[in-house]
Amino acid sequence: MDLNGLVDKGLRGESATRDEALAVLASPDDGLLDVVAAAGRVRRRWFGRRVKLNYLVNLKSGLCPEDCSYCSQRLGSDTGILKYTWLKPEQAAAAAAAGTAGGAKRVCLVASGRGPTDRDVERVATTIAAIRETSPGVEICACLGLLSDGQADRLREAGAHAYSHNLNTSEDNYADICTTHRFADRVDTVERSRRAGMSACSGLIAGMGEADGDLVDVALALRELDVDSVPVNFLIPFEGTPLSETWALTPQRCLRILAMVRFVCPDVEVRLAGGREIHLRTLQPLALHVVNSIFLGDYLTSEGQPGRADLEMIADAGFEVERAGAGTLPAHRRHTGRVAVRRRGAGTDLPPNA
Ligand code: SF4
Repeated sequence: MDLNGLVDKGLRGESATRDEALAVLASPDDGLLDVVAAAGRVRRRWFGRRVKLNYLVNLKSGLCPEDCSYCSQRLGSDTGILKYTWLKPEQAAAAAAAGTAGGAKRVCLVASGRGPTDRDVERVATTIAAIRETSPGVEICACLGLLSDGQADRLREAGAHAYSHNLNTSEDNYADICTTHRFADRVDTVERSRRAGMSACSGLIAGMGEADGDLVDVALALRELDVDSVPVNFLIPFEGTPLSETWALTPQRCLRILAMVRFVCPDVEVRLAGGREIHLRTLQPLALHVVNSIFLGDYLTSEGQPGRADLEMIADAGFEVERAGAGTLPAHRRHTGRVAVRRRGAGTDLPPNA
């Protein structure tokens, strides 16, 4: 594996090839610190030592008709998670204010389900207005599932800065983790959110029994979609889900996966998301050398580290919390209500084809 070559590419904003990304995943534990250091050089080129904090607000939990096998909110799930219908706007605004008080720059409004109805979108628009009132300046990301006609435009108009919808795994592996919708449906929603002028956030889940090729392929698909942020989740094997016995990750493998994503998507926000505590454990601070963004405290149907512990970890590792108002992305990727420019391969900017 040519780590220096990977760093040189990353510093130029170019993506690793499929073979290079596979080599990162296949590298031995003995070389792990070299891989982290190399990914760290790319991370610092584009994001310095800043760490963006994100805070999840669960607007609606459980009660989903889909069958995603990793999800505690799936059809017929027996996981004992809290199930409730929509949080009221003032409740969501209070939760968002707690997140911003803890240093969060972005709040992610999450609702379980296949996708929102138009009435749901109006409800979320009201919630966005309430959050903008109490927490002006906070970035608002909606994560409501598959979008249909007009819904992305409405969310953008209501003030959503970003839309999040994960691809989760490769197209080839998709039918193994979900049968009620297709990979292409998810791609369609990511493209709808981009077309509407929202920043596209889409990531993956590792540890579901996938092959290295699946992890690399989903990372390359996200690069091709030109998303602005890539949350990397490590499977939390919730009891009562089909993957409850699947423990396929080590802390070292998690770091290699994060480094692989950084080399494939060098100049975008790579976010350490679900499962970091149980899979990275004491190696979490090393991950900060690769990612530039984390979820703060509690998140979606699982218990995260309390916010204070996260802030201490960031300071102890020599990083700093990104300030509200500071741009996260490098200048060449920044946009506000942008007309998107797709990036296809090294240094080639093409007009949007969406
Ligand atoms: S991931 Fe979303 S669509 Fe799939 S089961 Fe969970 S809540 Fe439903």
